[in-house]
Amino acid sequence: MIARVTLDLKVRKEFDYSIPPELAGQVEVGSRVKVPFGARQILGSVTALVETSPHVRLRPILKVIGSQSLLTPKVLHLARWISEYYCAPLDVTLKSALPEAVRKEQKGWRELLFVRVLPAPGELPKLTQRQQDVWNIVEEWHEIPLHQLLTLAETTAATVHRLEEKGLVAIARKISERDPYADELILPTQPLVLNAEQAAALEKIKAAMGSPRVAREECRARVAQDAGATRSTFLLHGVTGSGKTEVYLQAIAHTLAQGKGAIVLVPEISLTPQTVERFKARFSSGPLQTLVAVLHSHLSAGERHDEWHKIRQSRARIVIGARSAVFAPVDPLGLIIVDEEHENSYKQEEAPRYHARDVAVLRGQQEGAVVVLGSATPSLESYYNAQKGKYALLELLSRVDEQKMPIVRVVDMRQEARQEKGIPIFSRLLKEAMTARLEKKEQVMLFLNRRGYASSLQCPKCGYVAGCPNCSISLTYHRRAGKLRCHICGHEAEAPGVCPERACRNPAIRYAGLGTEKVEDTLAKLFPHARVERMDSDALKKKDDLRRILSAFRIGKIDILVGTQMITKGLHFPNVTLVGIVYADLSLHIADFRAGERTFQLLTQVAGRAGRGEVEGEVIVQAFTPFHPAIQYARRHDFAGFYEQEIEFREQLRYPPVSRAALLTLRGRNEDKVKLSAEYLKKEIEKALALLKDVILAGPAPSPLLRAETYYRYQIMLRTRQMTKLSQALARLLEKVNLPEDVLLTVDVDPVNMV
Ligand code: ADP
Ligand code: ZN
Repeated sequence: MIARVTLDLKVRKEFDYSIPPELAGQVEVGSRVKVPFGARQILGSVTALVETSPHVRLRPILKVIGSQSLLTPKVLHLARWISEYYCAPLDVTLKSALPEAVRKEQKGWRELLFVRVLPAPGELPKLTQRQQDVWNIVEEWHEIPLHQLLTLAETTAATVHRLEEKGLVAIARKISERDPYADELILPTQPLVLNAEQAAALEKIKAAMGSPRVAREECRARVAQDAGATRSTFLLHGVTGSGKTEVYLQAIAHTLAQGKGAIVLVPEISLTPQTVERFKARFSSGPLQTLVAVLHSHLSAGERHDEWHKIRQSRARIVIGARSAVFAPVDPLGLIIVDEEHENSYKQEEAPRYHARDVAVLRGQQEGAVVVLGSATPSLESYYNAQKGKYALLELLSRVDEQKMPIVRVVDMRQEARQEKGIPIFSRLLKEAMTARLEKKEQVMLFLNRRGYASSLQCPKCGYVAGCPNCSISLTYHRRAGKLRCHICGHEAEAPGVCPERACRNPAIRYAGLGTEKVEDTLAKLFPHARVERMDSDALKKKDDLRRILSAFRIGKIDILVGTQMITKGLHFPNVTLVGIVYADLSLHIADFRAGERTFQLLTQVAGRAGRGEVEGEVIVQAFTPFHPAIQYARRHDFAGFYEQEIEFREQLRYPPVSRAALLTLRGRNEDKVKLSAEYLKKEIEKALALLKDVILAGPAPSPLLRAETYYRYQIMLRTRQMTKLSQALARLLEKVNLPEDVLLTVDVDPVNMV
């Protein structure tokens, strides 16, 4: 047998190695292995076992890592597809598919010394007081890690060894699993009685799961019939507060009952304890009891190692995680849920630039698993697929318990500015509403999509603007830190007291534009008795800050929570009755064809935080373009209306989802070189793609943000209905084109970020 191995080298090539006799039977497809490469030893993954190799004199595999292959053949198959579709080398994709802690051999199970009671042979021997204390603890715990025992008993190891000598306890090394949620107290929950809409949605999902064998055969037949159609996929469009999570929970129960597992993808930030707890609580007891593994970036490497192996060993049948959890080795897999499927964080912004939602749909298809995409504001892509019959649409159009959707009022900030002679942060309406809610001891959330204090520093005398030396944007003033910061590259400078221009030195410099810090300060002046807290990435410094702020808010220790995107997602606080959106149109001004869609989603999601309890909610949207469709449709909670007008615009311009796009970005430090390279690349593409009829090529053009992190960037955008063909053609082209060494090219298939 010969093993074909992809090495951790970022090359689009695989290498053959012989399997030495001492490793016979240990190397499988998916095994991680250490092999010689030149003078080095390198890690890689076995992608196939073959009988013969075109190469002679193969070198042997040196070592197999772990006792079980790390990649299942199914996940490997998925990774191959990703590599092709997203134009990325296979080992780069495998890097995303396996957590670092698992892929490298550095982390293992944690072993600790445990102290265990031994059955006492009748009367206890005579013990000193100290020994007696220790014994009492061990007897109560039955088994306890040594270090914990020493802390509890306030003693030294010597005392414990005395007990061991007397034959009362045993001390042994044992695996101690790390549990990131060990400190949480989780109370089991029972399934709720569903309302009619929920029940109807669940029935359809269950029907699609069917009996395992029939489902698989049906699926195979369907795939054979029409490679594009994926009617095992559902789009669950449920307004905020409609009880989507309960539908997920019961669908998972059904999967478990069928002997299969489930993956639940959630956007990174809403991996709040709240979400995870709801899943753990439901499956912590009862006949379907199973471990719920959690995979996300805030875990330590050791925790990630343990969580992942619990899944691989099939001890955890449910996985909750961010983007990369789509690769979790759940087998057999019955269900994948992608919650908040419209979220951009599902797209990886480095190679492989995969979209976890789309990968989930494909994985579902490959493994005969049902996929449920859920959102209050589906992406145009998914809704378009539902309209075309590719996905089945499930709708939850009312909130559970007949709660009303919040009333949304839009304030025209142009008029407000005229009357107030200057642009105020809060309109009179919002101020009055906040005052009223605070008096009633209700809670308020304020949203502004910009952190920091002011978005630029300007000198009104000489016109100086503090810009980033590395990027083509102005620096944001962070008052707490006394710093100017670039939100692209992180460049930091002291905030000057006078205009830095030598000839000017004007002390009256001006800070323009508004960020969350300034909102927070203004609130402190306006409502000196209110407890205000800010939640944005600046405020969340420590691992536990998010948890701390959210729980303080939940128990009413915070009156007003100010925040960025972070406060929009999946949070459920019944006492929030007022949501204020400070400047709703900030996100309309970005150079991206999805600006309207983003704004609609943001507004709807933020608005959805209001009125989730007994009292009806109210939302006040402050905007400079109050009649923009994204704002008006959000005001009416009219997703379908927004979709209709937006899809028309996409159709006219043939933008996604009507077509698919690939964004090619060239970057380098010499702008002319980048520009010339882009021109050259365009010609090469035109030659290479002459046979693909349906491709539209736009550019090259400077990126909307021309310079970022010291690199000048130019873009070419390709649009087509047949992305797989285009990807293949691009991959062939990439091997041939000769770009200068200092000009780098990235290919982003189905980009979500055009800047
Ligand atoms: P969504 O995710 O759609 O915004 P959630 O799943 O968070 O909504 O549900 C909102 C609240 O309604 C939760 O507290 C949930 O426990 C509750 N809920 C969901 N379904 C039901 C039901 N059938 N009966 C009673 N309460 C429900
Ligand atoms: Zn910068």
